[in-house]
Amino acid sequence: MSIKIAVLGGDGIGPEVTAEAVKVLQGVRSDLEFSTALCGGCAYEATGDPLPKETLDLCRASDAVLLGAVGGPKWDKLEAALRPEIGGLLRLRRELNLFANVRPAKVLRPLLQASPLKNNGGTIDLIVIRELTGGIYFGEPRERRDNGNTAIDTCVYTRAEIERIAEVGFQVARQRSKHLVSVDKNNVLETSRLWREVVTEFAARNPDVSVSHMLVDNCAMQLIRDPLQFDVILTENMFGDILSDEASMLTGSLGLLPSASLSEMKGSTVFGLYEPIHGSAPDIAGQSRANPIAAILSGAMLLLYSLGDKKGSARIEAAVESALEDGLRTADIFENGCKLVSTIEMGDAILAKL
Ligand code: NAD
Repeated sequence: MSIKIAVLGGDGIGPEVTAEAVKVLQGVRSDLEFSTALCGGCAYEATGDPLPKETLDLCRASDAVLLGAVGGPKWDKLEAALRPEIGGLLRLRRELNLFANVRPAKVLRPLLQASPLKNNGGTIDLIVIRELTGGIYFGEPRERRDNGNTAIDTCVYTRAEIERIAEVGFQVARQRSKHLVSVDKNNVLETSRLWREVVTEFAARNPDVSVSHMLVDNCAMQLIRDPLQFDVILTENMFGDILSDEASMLTGSLGLLPSASLSEMKGSTVFGLYEPIHGSAPDIAGQSRANPIAAILSGAMLLLYSLGDKKGSARIEAAVESALEDGLRTADIFENGCKLVSTIEMGDAILAKL
């Protein structure tokens, strides 16, 4: 029986990098059935809706979703509900109940020389667990008042939302160093006070994982000062968005990092949406300059979390490292002495390594 994967390329470089991820996944398994659908600005252009019903139906009928990226300057002035990021991707995450975003930030061995930490005696290998469907990105009201001169966003968290993301964080920490840093802004925000209260109670019931708390401004600083101190960072939506992008720059490029957005666990596997952490990069779209590695590693995460295929996932990771060891580089990670390759050439090289 085939496994159904919905592929939403999206906008800008999204379709370019997703095509390479699909190619590599097909190289690992022959039982995957890919179906494409529109999401984001391209969907708005075609149907007037950044998340058409057919797309949502396809995702719901699939075992996992592979997404490129959405958005671009062309759609920035649309009202919120029609914008690719809000009416498309944020709505999709909410409709699919994808409340946990898992974002590894890991320095790939062949790129150690390019990392700012090369002389520090260690390599960054951390995971940010970001709550994805609550907080200020979803709170109501979100509006303008006073003839457009006052803007309002609302940050809301419930105990249940914090508990279920804490559970994911603790599960991930158990597979790693059994230590988790919970990040909040508890000296200022009421939502952060509840966050810390709930995580502290959860930690008391789960003493096998040790937990420390850190304020988000300190965490942003510590990630630069001493990133090796972190293993698992658990945090709310907006803080996680910013901290994981910061962590990604320590590893070299936005173009290298995958992510998984997960729903409730079903046994040992879980429904999820897998996407690179970068955006649609309109500045390089259509030029075959985008780095497809983040999308390809998102495919590896899909195998691991949604299909429970550890071996297939590890094969993709090894193929990526091997292509990099051969000195192949897309423009964003290019170093002297390496060979500059296009998006497609990088995908082909990784496929060949399988
Ligand atoms: P971005 O991630 O698209 O680009 C930031 C910089 O990184 C650019 O210089 C870009 O060329 C480079 N870059 C990104 N991915 C790359 C890759 N794979 N290979 C090589 N270089 C890469 O962020 P941005 O410019 O702030 O946003 C552009 C658009 O993407 C906006 O409309 C934004 O809303 C949207 N966006 C979407 C998502 C998503 O779909 N999940 C995430 C972030 C931004």
